[in-house]
Amino acid sequence: MKMPFRTKLIGALFIIILTVFTGMGIYMTLYRIKEVRSEIVGNARMFVTLTSDKIGDAFLRYFKTAFFKFRAIILEQRGLNTDLENIQIIDLTGRIQYDMAQYEKGIFFAENPYSTDPFVLQNIKKMEMNINADDHLCIIVPYVDEYGVHNYSIVYHFSLKRISKEVSNVVKGSIAMGLSMLLLSVVLAVIASNRITGHLAVVSKAAKEIAEGDFNKVITIKTGDEFEDLANAFNYMTEKIREDIRELNNLIKELERRDTQKTQFLANISHELRTPLTVSIGYVDYLKKEKMGPLNEDQKHSLEIISRNLERLNKEIHSLLLVSRFTLEGVKLSYEIFDISDAIENILNNFVPEMKLKRLVVKKDIRVRLVYADKEGINTVLENLISNGIKFSEPDTNLEIKTCIINENNQEYFQFKISNHGIGIPEDQLEKIFEPFYQVDATTSRRYGGIGLGLSIARNIIEAHQGKIWAESRGGVTCFYFKIPNRRV
Ligand code: ADP
Repeated sequence: MKMPFRTKLIGALFIIILTVFTGMGIYMTLYRIKEVRSEIVGNARMFVTLTSDKIGDAFLRYFKTAFFKFRAIILEQRGLNTDLENIQIIDLTGRIQYDMAQYEKGIFFAENPYSTDPFVLQNIKKMEMNINADDHLCIIVPYVDEYGVHNYSIVYHFSLKRISKEVSNVVKGSIAMGLSMLLLSVVLAVIASNRITGHLAVVSKAAKEIAEGDFNKVITIKTGDEFEDLANAFNYMTEKIREDIRELNNLIKELERRDTQKTQFLANISHELRTPLTVSIGYVDYLKKEKMGPLNEDQKHSLEIISRNLERLNKEIHSLLLVSRFTLEGVKLSYEIFDISDAIENILNNFVPEMKLKRLVVKKDIRVRLVYADKEGINTVLENLISNGIKFSEPDTNLEIKTCIINENNQEYFQFKISNHGIGIPEDQLEKIFEPFYQVDATTSRRYGGIGLGLSIARNIIEAHQGKIWAESRGGVTCFYFKIPNRRV
């Protein structure tokens, strides 16, 4: 179960304070018991020392002859000690000669009984004072008459009830004080925990704001303790993050600057390469057509190879130029209506030798012919998708091409699909292949040729049409799709 820090803190403080006060209460009670007991015993000792001779003398002199006088003396002494319960005068055989409590109740002995108290019987003959303070306080004092004879001992009984009374007073006082201190401690605990959790809440709120991207957060805690240190450390951390972000932003700007420079360089170089290449292609064409004189078979074959390689080079340079132009200037579209079926047919015608070589069968399902889009751009896209389809097909397979209209969220789209049977594309790379220069496997570029720009160019063009291009690949069948909004003129 999740318990807030504040509740835990209040609970901990509460338990600590409760323990301290309970301990103090127990200590005070024990201390008071000891104090009251020694006070009762001390008072009783003094009382006994002061009264024993007087009581002994009065017993001998008046008990039998003038009892009222004896009683008066006894009662006078009794009034001096509030803990006193009884005075007995017992002879050395253990027989009770006088029992104040019984006499005062009006009970007179017909025959004097023997004491049954083992402490009394054990110490009645002793010549010194004996004290027992088990359940009540009993003091035996020997009485020696004027002739030095010890015939009786005086036995005093004192009550110890005052101790329990005192204890209950102390306990009551401790409970009252404990409760009020507990109340006070709860208030203090709440205040202390509010102070602590309040500061923590400030730090945690600031941390959340930073997590949400507000790095300008500064917290102020001026308590001169660890919380202030925490706030300072926090502010230091955010300052560091701000510095790092500034550095990163500068780095990003620098990278962007260099990237533009690189793209510019790429554009320049492609452009510069294209001019001599176009001239070379022109002359090779001229030679091939035997406009500069007849050619033998070997020469024709060599020129054919030169021509194919120059065309390939021209295509790659064209791709480089397109990518750099898109990056620098964006894709510029010029919409017109055109017959996409013708465009597909023309492209397929250019790949007849390759398709023948692999014995590929093209299956077309053209349900939509007229498209309103940037003709040159869509042509480039088709060229890239169809050339890839042929390039990555296994021999003796089918190449399927389909166009149709689909409806999505009340929007009509023109959709193109091409599927081929071949090496396929791993699931996790279906997105990446649309990034510039990305190829599934570096060895494929060597085996199939290409520099990894075709799909990135296609994506630029399709996205400029507010469309979408994607690939699916399962069991060696790879499908490329693109869809663009079907605009009516
Ligand atoms: P290029 O074909 O010049 O390498 P692309 O951008 O046209 O560059 O394609 C990028 C990569 O996508 C290719 O290198 C290849 O790995 C993968 N690819 C594209 N089309 C197919 C396909 N029909 N079948 C299998 N892999 C493909």
